[in-house]
Amino acid sequence: MPLKSLLINGFKSFADKTTLTFTQGITGIVGPNGSGKSNITEAIRWVMGEQSAKSLRGSHMPDVIFAGSAIRPPLNRAEVTLVFDNQDHELPVDRATVTITRRLFRDGASEFYLNQKACRLRDITDLFLDSGLGKASFSIISQGRVEEIFNSKPEERRTIIEEVAGVYKYKQQKKQAEAELAVTEENLNRVADIHDELA
Ligand code: ATP
Repeated sequence: MPLKSLLINGFKSFADKTTLTFTQGITGIVGPNGSGKSNITEAIRWVMGEQSAKSLRGSHMPDVIFAGSAIRPPLNRAEVTLVFDNQDHELPVDRATVTITRRLFRDGASEFYLNQKACRLRDITDLFLDSGLGKASFSIISQGRVEEIFNSKPEERRTIIEEVAGVYKYKQQKKQAEAELAVTEENLNRVADIHDELA
């Protein structure tokens, strides 16, 4: 499931539409301090569903939108598109190429697209749940992450192993099913109350 390309437009320091094409093998990105190398990996994490502004070095999500410079006014929209080669069908979508897009406006409105069709954030996170590419996976190791893993508590390290082993997906699904069950039980209790009142 190699990455084919990344399109960044209005995200952090990328005020202009920028396309990075990944060819076979290893791609190295070099540049002076502060030139935007980390912003590229953050763009990838963001389009794959990152919900924590803090982990993107901001205080709230619109901080990812180009904030302006000495010579340019701020923008009102950030957009990132990631294109995967899915010929191996690692992603559970019946297409040879999979495209995901995330767009955010300064008023907080956000949009997600899967293969150019509007979708929910959940559709994107579900897509990567079992691929080892989730936003919290080890396909992206940012600065300081190695020490963070070494210093993490055993329970935190267990989550990492569960993600790698593919168990995490089922844990998430179980958590969601339990939440739905709790709501259903609550509804049943209300029906029972109403029934008692009418009896
Ligand atoms: P280093 O080598 O020091 O780690 P880097 O190449 O990884 O640096 P980044 O951290 O990706 O650089 O980029 C930092 C730059 O991005 C800073 O100049 C910062 O001002 C700019 N930047 C971050 N957020 C925004 C934003 N919302 N709008 C405009 N510029 C931004």
